[in-house]
Amino acid sequence: MQSILSMGFRVSRLVIGFMWCIVVAAGATVANVAAAGNQITIEYAEDPQFSRIKSLLIQDGVLDHGVRFINDTFQLQRSIVVEAGAADGPLYDPAVSAIQIPYAFYTEVTDRYRELESDELELSALAGDAMLHTLFHELGHALVDQLELPIVGREEDAADALANVLLLEYYDNGAGIAGNAAELFALEGEDRGELVDEDFWGEHSLDEQRYFSTLCNIYGSNPDRFAELAQQTGFSEERREICVETYQRLVDDWNLLLEPVFKTDG
Ligand SMILES: [Zn+2]
Repeated sequence: MQSILSMGFRVSRLVIGFMWCIVVAAGATVANVAAAGNQITIEYAEDPQFSRIKSLLIQDGVLDHGVRFINDTFQLQRSIVVEAGAADGPLYDPAVSAIQIPYAFYTEVTDRYRELESDELELSALAGDAMLHTLFHELGHALVDQLELPIVGREEDAADALANVLLLEYYDNGAGIAGNAAELFALEGEDRGELVDEDFWGEHSLDEQRYFSTLCNIYGSNPDRFAELAQQTGFSEERREICVETYQRLVDDWNLLLEPVFKTDG
């Protein structure tokens, strides 16, 4: 499978990565005036085994940024706690309204990206992109739970789609972030080896399907801008049309489903 990073995405990511810094800075001031009420907050667990990862995550600020974005965009019906450094996950636990992301997951993700990238700064940027996509994926499960949203099909696919839509609709470099997160699926697929029955009955689509679905969403979000991506990925004309239709439908349907919790000025 061809790596998205070898398709020139890395270059565009670096260029637009700068813009993300500006968004983060602006978000910091917006967060100060965030409306009171139910909010998503983040707690970083103490864990001597992962103290370096904890510092990296806090310093990088990617989860903090994601949490601010969610509070600026949605009026949650129940508060959510992001437990960075939880024992299990990544997952959303409806019993305690918590998104759990273990430090070990960050390490695992970074190690996987190491197959493509050796520069430590770039590695932490890639891992940050995967963390943000993961946070938004788990937010998808949380919103399905809070709003009792009807999901006809795999909830895991719906959660992936929400993560993609939020990144592509709200972030200047959303395509780069989603593309890098997709790359992780591709790497996981490559490392998995032979498919076994368990892969087919799992809750998630296959890693390769999650990879191509995300690329399809990226292309569908802006066919002119990502024409080369579709070509390099090998999407047929028919597939490209379906990507555009699917993406538009995802945006419309998520807008409809989340209408009750969108902040009007968000
Ligand atoms: Zn999930």
